[in-house]
Amino acid sequence: MAESVPCTFLITGCNRGIGLELVKQLLAKPNPPEKVFATCRSPGTSQSQELTNLAAQHPNLSVIKLETTDPASVAEAMKEVEKQLKGCGLNVLINNAGICKNNTLESVDEKDLLNAFTTNVVGPMLVTKAFLPLLKKAAQENPQGKMSWTRAAVINMSTMGASIEKTSETFLCWPFVSYRCSKTALNMLTRCQALGYMKDGILCTAIYPGWVQTDMGGPEAPLTVDQSVSGMLQVLCNLSEKHNGIFVDWEGKTIPW
Ligand code: NDP
Repeated sequence: MAESVPCTFLITGCNRGIGLELVKQLLAKPNPPEKVFATCRSPGTSQSQELTNLAAQHPNLSVIKLETTDPASVAEAMKEVEKQLKGCGLNVLINNAGICKNNTLESVDEKDLLNAFTTNVVGPMLVTKAFLPLLKKAAQENPQGKMSWTRAAVINMSTMGASIEKTSETFLCWPFVSYRCSKTALNMLTRCQALGYMKDGILCTAIYPGWVQTDMGGPEAPLTVDQSVSGMLQVLCNLSEKHNGIFVDWEGKTIPW
């Protein structure tokens, strides 16, 4: 039997990498979502050609402009999504857009740290706040439902490098100071969102995609984007109340904060 797939998704950073593959795999399911809002900074340009091609083949795909760090862009995107949903809610928000810079304790500067926090923490905070009314609406459409991604969920894309408990295993070979600090803050945001939105029936979980062959992960990464995303989709469709406010990896293993 095909697993249940939520009706509506919004994913940030979909023109390449993990975001693009999430869109592709959702659309390819035997029971695809009714609507996937694939957002990116520059729709209709060469940077988003693959999304444009996909949208031409899939009427259930909408490509929406969204710069996650700009409140005006977030508000515009929300207005457009709300219009297209015609009174329905949004089941799943995936805060995927992110940036990563390789720096050490010696080379990191204030700009690195602020840039990382702006994209990796402020962005997911702004986007989640803006789309909250639509997520609540989706949860209310199924008031007796248990927490799950088919009801309403916020998924924040994090990294193993954000785990404070695991730092001694990962820091010396992989410093990435600004990225780690920002994703640790994202983890805290996830935990706060999980507790704050529990009463609304919205599940909030942080997920680590593994080390993946994308522009960010580089060619040395052990996982293909296909492996990572198919693993994550399997994990996401099995999330329940016990996963609210926790941190899991692409295979479903819990990562300590
Ligand atoms: P890529 O660098 O390949 O893609 C990043 C995506 O984020 C691009 O679509 C980019 O858009 C978008 N983006 C960046 N900043 C913004 C912004 N301000 N507003 C809107 N979109 C933005 O990264 P991955 O696909 O590898 O990573 C996706 C997520 O997974 C990230 O959050 C990352 O931290 C996380 N992750 C990835 C790992 C890996 O090994 N690849 C490991 C652990 C976590 P544009 O093309 O316009 O720049």
